[in-house]
Amino acid sequence: MTRYIDVTDLSRLVTRKGLTNCLEEMAEYIRQDYLRWHDFEKCARVANHSPDGVIELMPASDANLYAFKYVNGHPKNTRHGMLTVMAFGALGDVDTGKPLLLSEMTLTTAIRTAATSALAARYLARKGSRSMALIGNGSQSEFQAIAFHALLGIEEIRLYDLDPQATAKLAANLAGYPGIRLVKAASVADAVRGADIVTTVTADKANATILTPEMIEPGMHLNAVGGDCPGKTELHRDIVERARVIVEYEPQSRIEGEIQQMPADSPVTEFWQLVNGEIEGRESAEQVTLFDSVGFAIEDYSALRYVLDVAKALDVGSEIELVPDLNDPKDLYALLQPAVPAIGKKRA
Ligand code: NAD
Repeated sequence: MTRYIDVTDLSRLVTRKGLTNCLEEMAEYIRQDYLRWHDFEKCARVANHSPDGVIELMPASDANLYAFKYVNGHPKNTRHGMLTVMAFGALGDVDTGKPLLLSEMTLTTAIRTAATSALAARYLARKGSRSMALIGNGSQSEFQAIAFHALLGIEEIRLYDLDPQATAKLAANLAGYPGIRLVKAASVADAVRGADIVTTVTADKANATILTPEMIEPGMHLNAVGGDCPGKTELHRDIVERARVIVEYEPQSRIEGEIQQMPADSPVTEFWQLVNGEIEGRESAEQVTLFDSVGFAIEDYSALRYVLDVAKALDVGSEIELVPDLNDPKDLYALLQPAVPAIGKKRA
């Protein structure tokens, strides 16, 4: 049988654990897996583009587990009452191919993305960072805010979105959140001014310039989350050119990240090199650092591994018959003869 976690199961799981615990623990799973970078079979995700969006498959595996995520990105969806990003995924046993977990991944992606952003900032943001600008106040934003508070100690978050209702929603959701002070900004420049960290998490299928060079101050850490497809970027090219750039997996980021604006040999560091200590994170207090995040399959592998562990521990979800479990593994046809109990006998 395969464990099945739907949206209600996952929200129950997160509520029982507490979102902060989930963010911290998932970040640790992600860190552990990035430490094992060379154990993984990796590839850039497979993206099928359409005029208004993209649907992607993201696989990764090691010697034990195979993971994939199906995820879309359709920025116009919210106009029709649908999420921009929706996802589900699976974990399988490498030895046999048996699917172990089929899970919702929309909520899971928001948690894993925020956990990854905050983890990267631990290596890249200035020590003692306390303020963050949060540009783009949609579905991902609360998770980013809480992750940066929990993992980095961010206390003041300066909010800006083109859509004032999105900012109002975020402010209402986090009103009274202990230790977080929210400030609504009048513009991107107003939000960014004086911030230690700037997170951009906007959705628009365009080469946008949410951040322009004159906004960037020495020592800022930029966490660019929303630019994650060809022709979908958030930063002015000059910022990318001048910053110290960290990517997840270079072959994928060259296609999808902010660095798609740069020559193919522009200098970048892969995140795993910071995690294993091979390369230093922030090099000076004045350096401008850029985590050019697009989301990588190993993070989803970690997230699914975490969800399965917690689901087992808390007995969340159900067991479903996703693939047949036959008495005679060469007799698939038996499934079409309902009089004969072809499945289930083994466990009886
Ligand atoms: P969403 O549609 O719920 O929210 C996006 C918000 O951005 C909206 O409120 C919109 O008004 C705002 N926005 C658009 N253009 C803007 C601009 N020029 N200035 C200010 N605000 C602007 O989307 P979401 O689920 O929050 O996702 C946000 C982005 O993050 C998407 O582009 C998505 O593809 C990306 N994403 C990346 C990762 C990753 O791993 N890097 C993971 C998940 C989502």
